[in-house]
Amino acid sequence: MLFRVGERSIALDKYDRDAEFSFVSHAHSDHTQGLRKSSTALMSEQTAGLLAARGKNVYTMVPPKSTAMINAGHILGSKQLYMEFDELGTDAIYSGDYQMQQSFAAERIEIKRAETLIIDSTYPYPNIEFDDRDDVAYAMQRYVRNKTSSGAAVVFGTYTMGKAQEIVRIMNDIGIVPTVDPKVARINEVYGEFGIHMRYSTVGDESQENGDSDPVLIMSNSGLTACAMKVSEERKVRVYTAMASGFAKIYRFNTDVQFPLSDHADFKQAVEYVGCCQPKQIFTVGGNSETMAKNLRAEGYRASVLESGSTISLASHIKAASE
Ligand SMILES: [Zn+2]
Repeated sequence: MLFRVGERSIALDKYDRDAEFSFVSHAHSDHTQGLRKSSTALMSEQTAGLLAARGKNVYTMVPPKSTAMINAGHILGSKQLYMEFDELGTDAIYSGDYQMQQSFAAERIEIKRAETLIIDSTYPYPNIEFDDRDDVAYAMQRYVRNKTSSGAAVVFGTYTMGKAQEIVRIMNDIGIVPTVDPKVARINEVYGEFGIHMRYSTVGDESQENGDSDPVLIMSNSGLTACAMKVSEERKVRVYTAMASGFAKIYRFNTDVQFPLSDHADFKQAVEYVGCCQPKQIFTVGGNSETMAKNLRAEGYRASVLESGSTISLASHIKAASE
C-alpha cells in the first residue's frame, strides 16, 4: 500500500519502485508483494534472513532519517514503522501484523505513542477473543502427551514460518523433539541464527528413517494429510491430526483437533494497543478494514479506512480531529 503524506510517499508492505522507500514489516508472503531478488527495502535483518531462506536475496537499507523500526511481536524480526514528519510537525506509526501477547519464538511487542496510527485489521470482531497463549500451549502439550503415551502419533499442519517454530518450542518444553518437513527446517535454521534455538529432526534425517524420533510431526498445511497417511502406514500406529491457528476460533478445520494459537492481536488487544499508542486518528488496512474502522469508532476513536495511493494530510486531519 502506498502511503502519501504531503510530498512524501512510503510503500508499506508492498514494494514500490516509485516510493521514497518501501517498508517490509515481516517475511510473510502477503506482506512482501512486489519484492524481487534484487529489491532494496527497509526491513529487519531477521526478515531479510527469512526471505533469503525462501529464495529472495533482498537488501536492507539504513532506516531513513526520522524513521525507526520497533518490535511488533508477531514473528521473528517483525517490525512496526515509526515515522516523524518534521515538516508537518506530526508523526505516525504503521503496525503491520502485531500481537500484544508474548510469542514463544519472537521478540515482545514495543509500543510507541504517535498522532496517527495505521493499524492492521486481521481480527476486527469484538466477540472473537483469544485465550491466554500459555493456556493454549498447555492444552497442546497435554493433548500430545496423552496421545503419544498411548502409542499414537500426532501430526500438526501449520504455517511454516512463525507458527511452526512456536509449536516446535512448545513441544521442546516438555522434552519432545518433533520431526519437521524441510520447509519448516529451513526457517528453523534462520531462527537459530538469531538466537531462537530449537531441537528437531528433519524428514529424511537418519534418526527419522530409523523410526526412533518422537512421534510428533510438524508439517506445512498442504502436507498434512499425505504425512499423516505415510506415518500411519510406516509406523503402524494411530495418527491424530492437529492444527494451530487463530482461525480455529472462527472455522472448523478438517483435523482431529484444533488449537486457537494466534500470532495476531484480537479486537480486545487492538483496543489495548490503541489505548497505549494514544493516536488522534486511526487508519485501518487489510481485508477487514471497514469492519475494523467501524468497531474502533464504536470505541470512541476517529477511525477510517486507508485507501492505497491516496494522499493524506496528517496535519489537517489532526487539526480537524481536535476541533
Ligand atoms: Zn504475518
